Amino acid sequence: MDITIIAETQDGGLHPVTAQLVGAASSLGASLTVICPGGAGGEEACGISGVGKVLAVTGDCFATFDGGAWAEALDAVAGGDLVIGAAPTSGRDICSRIAARRGVSIIQDVINLSPGLNITHPIYSGKANQDLTVTGNCVLTLRANTFPPAPSGGTAQLSTVQQSGDVRLAVAEAFARASERLDVTDADIIISGGRGMGHPDNFRHLYEVADVIGAAVGASRAAVDTWEEIPHSLQVGQTGKTVNPSLYIAVGISGAIQHLAGMRTSKYIVAINKDPEAPIFKVADYGIVCTWEEAIPVLKEELSKLT
Ligand SMILES: Cc1cc2nc3c(=O)[nH]c(=O)nc-3n(C[C@H](O)[C@H](O)[C@H](O)COP(=O)(O)OP(=O)(O)OC[C@H]3O[C@@H](n4cnc5c(N)ncnc54)[C@H](O)[C@@H]3O)c2cc1C
Repeated sequence: MDITIIAETQDGGLHPVTAQLVGAASSLGASLTVICPGGAGGEEACGISGVGKVLAVTGDCFATFDGGAWAEALDAVAGGDLVIGAAPTSGRDICSRIAARRGVSIIQDVINLSPGLNITHPIYSGKANQDLTVTGNCVLTLRANTFPPAPSGGTAQLSTVQQSGDVRLAVAEAFARASERLDVTDADIIISGGRGMGHPDNFRHLYEVADVIGAAVGASRAAVDTWEEIPHSLQVGQTGKTVNPSLYIAVGISGAIQHLAGMRTSKYIVAINKDPEAPIFKVADYGIVCTWEEAIPVLKEELSKLT
């Protein structure tokens, strides 16, 4: 079996999730080719253990992000029976388009992958997991921070291919805005605010705690929809980002099923909510029933003592 991995790139280099994709794919015992959109991170990809070949794909379309154009260019050079990308950010978009172009199935947000192409992925907004065995060609996206990264030490050969796609709608600004701070999909600790924060200015209290413990700030959809100051890139949940941190702190978030779909696999969940009946407490490991105005200053002070 030949596997093609679509590298996730950022700031002209490889995003750490790329090594996780290689780590997961290595367990299948197949030959691995990594494709680097825009050529970014090609040398780095060669150094990941288990990678057989690296293709740096350069072309005009890679100057900005357009999922359709990138998929067109990458599909033209991607061989392999199985194409694997990262579930967060651009990978989900590109991989679904590649699957559609090829007329093959896509399985999104895979959380377990083992030899024989036995796969587990969430269904019904994360309420259940489905086990599948894949036969035939297919495209997968894997959840970030779920598979151990392949170690460095690889010596793959790097080839450069010139290939572009037809740009119809380029997204540049949204990516710039999202990258100003640690992204929720990269973070090991997340502190998220909901509509219970009352006003977008109050998110500064979450940023202050985040700065103390090196966390990313997230948000519920109600917060993102209500206040334009809270960018969509912060949204966690069914129609936002799926996260898998060690610690998720939900502040003023009720715990609607669509929010839980994006964060319920967090290792530890702490909920701060003034309503003891809030559904978030059903999934929380630690629940604090009080207002955030009472809890956050104490949390910040105590965490500051630990760092
Ligand atoms: C198709 C679909 C997709 C969706 N996708 C998403 C998604 O991806 N992500 C998502 O989050 N939602 C999503 N939603 C919306 C979801 O159903 C909820 O409406 C949303 O999650 C509610 O956000 P919230 O908990 O911040 O707000 P609310 O439901 O308004 O809850 C606010 C909470 O704050 C508490 N509170 C109020 N004041 C304080 C205070 N001072 N201190 C402490 N606690 C306080 C309240 O007790 C309450 O529990 C989706 C909905 C649909 C229909």
